[in-house]
Amino acid sequence: MAVAVKEVALRRAKLWLLPDSDFYKGFFCRAHACPGTWACESMELLRRWGLPDLPDVGCSLWTYKKQVLAQLSAVCAEQAGRLLRSRRSCMPFGTIYPDNLLPGVIHAAARFSMGWQPLVAVRAFCRLRLGILVLTHVGGKASAAKCRFCIACGMAVTAPVTHAMIRCAAFDEYRLPLCGTVAWGDEVVGRLSSLLQLQPGDEGFEAVLLLAAKVDEYAVSFWSQKGGKLLRTLAP
Ligand SMILES: [Zn+2]
Repeated sequence: MAVAVKEVALRRAKLWLLPDSDFYKGFFCRAHACPGTWACESMELLRRWGLPDLPDVGCSLWTYKKQVLAQLSAVCAEQAGRLLRSRRSCMPFGTIYPDNLLPGVIHAAARFSMGWQPLVAVRAFCRLRLGILVLTHVGGKASAAKCRFCIACGMAVTAPVTHAMIRCAAFDEYRLPLCGTVAWGDEVVGRLSSLLQLQPGDEGFEAVLLLAAKVDEYAVSFWSQKGGKLLRTLAP
């Protein structure tokens, strides 16, 4: 939305910069007196986002663009902060992918030569990295209780993604190709992070994709039988 608002603000600015004799500018100026026109609606949009109009600040287009971008960034940062602080914002950035951008994996995987199965599994890998798959239940229902149970093996777990990827006996078979790789390592601490940050071309990348696909497949099957929600909401 902010991108659209920026375009509207800059479109208005360019119209203001046309010569006074310009037919289009004349029409644009007069349209402010008619409610419902693009001129009025765009003016209202700027007001709602706290943006000045070009004649209010009287600067060059370049300076105006900088002001608009700064204001929009501030509004977006404030909105994002508010969402992440709310109780339902549960994106576990700190543990799932501390310093790696998710879109990077998707783009890299699309360019990399991989079989169809691992390519499709990238979606499951992304869902797992985002931590939105519901991998635990209490009495067959999704729950935010501290003690929940693994949907695959029934064990009580507190860290569902860690459990599914590293410990759950139901996925032992799919975990075998990862054991012995650099990402698996000797230390358990940091292992989940290493696995989830593998990139196309890294040793074990396709194996981690297939493991993620199995976990995803199990979750889809479990929640379709129970009638529950497969994915958690990231933001209100
Ligand atoms: Zn389990």
